[in-house]
Amino acid sequence: QHGPVEPRVPLAQARVLVAGLGVTGRAVAGALPPHVASVVTVAPSDDADVPLPADDAGRAALLADADLLVTSPGFKPSDPLLVAAGGAGVPVWSEVELAWRLRVDRAAGGGPAPWLAVTGTNGKTTTVEMLASILSAAGLRTRAVGNVGTPLIEAALDPDLDVLAVELSSFQLHFAHTVAVQAGAILNLAEDHLDWHGTMAAYGADKGRIYERAERACVYNAADGATEHEVREADVADGARAVGFTLGAPAPGMLGVVEDVLVDRAFHAPADAVDRLTYAAELGTLADLEHLAPGGSLPPHVVANALAAAALARAHGVPAAAVRDGLRAFTPGGHRIQQVAALDGVTYVNDSKATNAHSAAASLAGFPAGSVVWVAGGLAKGARFDELVEDRADRLRAAVVIGVDPGPFTAALGRHAPDVPVVVVDPGDTGTVMRRAVAAARSLAQPGDTVLLAPAGASQDQFRSYAQRGEAFAAAVEELVGGA
Ligand code: ADP
Repeated sequence: QHGPVEPRVPLAQARVLVAGLGVTGRAVAGALPPHVASVVTVAPSDDADVPLPADDAGRAALLADADLLVTSPGFKPSDPLLVAAGGAGVPVWSEVELAWRLRVDRAAGGGPAPWLAVTGTNGKTTTVEMLASILSAAGLRTRAVGNVGTPLIEAALDPDLDVLAVELSSFQLHFAHTVAVQAGAILNLAEDHLDWHGTMAAYGADKGRIYERAERACVYNAADGATEHEVREADVADGARAVGFTLGAPAPGMLGVVEDVLVDRAFHAPADAVDRLTYAAELGTLADLEHLAPGGSLPPHVVANALAAAALARAHGVPAAAVRDGLRAFTPGGHRIQQVAALDGVTYVNDSKATNAHSAAASLAGFPAGSVVWVAGGLAKGARFDELVEDRADRLRAAVVIGVDPGPFTAALGRHAPDVPVVVVDPGDTGTVMRRAVAAARSLAQPGDTVLLAPAGASQDQFRSYAQRGEAFAAAVEELVGGA
């Protein structure tokens, strides 16, 4: 961001240009009118007020009548319209910045609801939902907002909420300038969206903006040095603390795990202790791992997400018992390592939400060596898959590659898993891609194996969304089961 941050006129008098009419743009355009002088939408879609200008003159004319541009994640920072805005002295805000500026006082008083915010390459939605569950268990009026469900702008304008559990993407953080969260977490930083941010350093720096001006706590992943680096780079409020989380025993000042119990050595005060456990008084016990997956298996990354959610809730002042109750009440969203069916001793698992290498790696790690028929592929978003395949080749029985461009996936498999059979699904006839993929996977699987859809790529080359891709997988599996 090279242009100014403040509009030339007060917000109430500003003529606002809203770029993009996806979920974010629509929510912004719907919420803005009472708060500003006028709203004009610009997007490459028929229902926009103005079509996206194709040349410099068109952009200049549009920007001449604007005091502020509110952008959407679909616009890269290098988009000609955003670049032109900077040149024309028109500030560019994301929905997040706008929501922060328009926050309303809570009906019950106490000023605007504080934000507890989560970003990271993977686990944002899961963590935000865990956090909302914990806050609700504490009797607070809250909502999980951001990429899923309620748009942030709507929640920020709702006077009946005490605290918001906010998912922030790196796209939105890039154009957030004055947001000061009460506590913020970066869960992890791995290669993703480089086509948008340009470089890994730029991507990390954008995620790092979540910590800027943080009031109470910057929560980082002790196993991911890049997240701690961003804490050190940030300019935070006096008294704000850096709080790490770890899957091992925590050092003082961190949250972690001791003997299958989540413990808090950062915010713990003896009065919080659950004294049925002998080490409670010293460690501040929060919840048993059993509470996270009653009777089920528990991948390590879910524990990490729970610790991050707990840290944010504790920074807000939530008691330990509410962390336990909230995690117990939490149920994970769909398309995230979800068992679909079993057939001929083979289990079919849908992790369509694994849209990058880092999440697919976490997913594959949860299965025994040599037991996975991996359904992978999709939009690579400029990423490479060498590290993923190298690290997880031992899990693979076979691979089935979908997607319009299988190249990046087959190349990595050829280099790092030369002995693993690979079937490439012809991209033709999008409607039957998943049926053909599942049939191929079935013929490669042995009893005891798992057919795992954890594509490592985004879905939009062949599907509307990761959810539709997951549904197509589940439907294809159900068809097999029905026909068996
Ligand atoms: P996001 O909102 O960041 O996309 P989700 O909670 O929807 O995150 O999970 C996205 C994918 O990442 C899923 O496939 C999930 O299994 C995996 N995942 C969740 N949490 C983590 C984590 N902490 N580390 C690695 N992968 C994760």
